[in-house]
Amino acid sequence: MHIRFIVMVLAALIAAASTPALAQTAPDHAPWQVKAREVYARIIGFRTAAAEHQTAAMAGWLGDVLKAGGVPPEDIATLQAGGATAMIVRIPGSTPARPILFSAHMDVVDARPADWQRDPFTLIEEGGYFFGRGTTDNKAGVAALVSTILRFKAEHLRPARGLVFAFVGDEETGMQTTAAIAAHPWVRDAEFAINTDAGGGVLDDATGKPLIYLVQGAEKTFATFDLTVTNPGGHSSRPRADNAIYQLARALDRIAAYRFPVMSNELTRAYLGAMGRAQPGPLGEVLRRFAADPADAAAADTLATSPEFVGTTRTTCVATMLEAGHAENALPQKATAAINCRIFPGVAVDSVREALVRVIGDPGVHVAVRGSPQESPVSEMRPDVMAAITRAVHADHPGVAVVPYLESGGTDGKVYRRAGIPTFATSGLFSKPSEMFAHGLNERLPVTSFYQGLDHIYRLAVVLGSAGRSD
Ligand SMILES: [Zn+2]
Repeated sequence: MHIRFIVMVLAALIAAASTPALAQTAPDHAPWQVKAREVYARIIGFRTAAAEHQTAAMAGWLGDVLKAGGVPPEDIATLQAGGATAMIVRIPGSTPARPILFSAHMDVVDARPADWQRDPFTLIEEGGYFFGRGTTDNKAGVAALVSTILRFKAEHLRPARGLVFAFVGDEETGMQTTAAIAAHPWVRDAEFAINTDAGGGVLDDATGKPLIYLVQGAEKTFATFDLTVTNPGGHSSRPRADNAIYQLARALDRIAAYRFPVMSNELTRAYLGAMGRAQPGPLGEVLRRFAADPADAAAADTLATSPEFVGTTRTTCVATMLEAGHAENALPQKATAAINCRIFPGVAVDSVREALVRVIGDPGVHVAVRGSPQESPVSEMRPDVMAAITRAVHADHPGVAVVPYLESGGTDGKVYRRAGIPTFATSGLFSKPSEMFAHGLNERLPVTSFYQGLDHIYRLAVVLGSAGRSD
């Protein structure tokens, strides 16, 4: 799940009150629900962290389950990239309409069993929750894809459009299997993708009432710039006029004082407007004002002081690491700092580097981008996709506002978007801000959310898959 940012916002907005755990769902489940739970339990047991190399074993097991459920072997393909294994499964369509991709990732951030209260690689149902590494990020999504495929086969459903289901092997690390999937002949013509790895509903911490449902339609670009100052140095008893540490400090001061230009697009205005409507008080009013008119400088200035919302209104860059000098009695020969930037969609990484150089205004400070940041375009919200998501969400949570948002964290949706496949992240999972434990200790998912997530993906596959178009 990658709605931690929003969730933190809401956590700050909603007076948190401790409430009893959600009531457990009725024990009499449909056979497909029982099967999905079995799959979920088994796949939590694969320690698919990068260093453990268990994605191949997990893909192999899932492939067997799907073949047993009626998927012909020729509709399953495995891919290897960057030391990880991925799998794609297709359900051919009855028309030549372009296929739809559904994506989830099999890998997890590792968990140290000694640090957990329960074994992270055993699915444990307790007090209305499923506990285990990957219960939210993203093995509930994997289970939802598997469950959807098995239901289509069991119910002999033939979609008008081809459906392709991707089981990514390295979303948490290199995303190289995602790139391989995006280039695969079954996938590369996909009209759009539904990513289960982000998006979802937010429940009021105190009452458990659904507040808002968020669909991820874009991601900021993650880029780190290394600032380096070098100096001949010397003995610290003989200070020179120039000093690498002071020179770097002045550059950092200028970056601290600089604000990148205010930016907005249809998606961020929709998101900020909805967040403004969801909350009372002065912040809500400022959000609504900015959404109505992003040129409102006073509103933009107020949001610039809000850690929760600044990232949705502009590119941000902030110093995160610092290193300098080599001895207490020597003048520094080198001083370096890392500046981490979250770049607004549509802004080139190199233009941010140029802005930093200009703001620093000192040719003695070298600015270099680290690695190769991945820029990705905004996926324009499609009325058919938003309508299908809204319908699926309202089946369980009638009337809740369904709104797009710009991701400040990251998922492999950006890899699909870069490959030209518009991507919308929607998990169908609702949780409380206080229940977010993805990547952390004691990761958990409300049991009701798990079953609702299965239905969410199935409903989207039925509705979107039936709407075949031959363009
Ligand atoms: Zn994830």
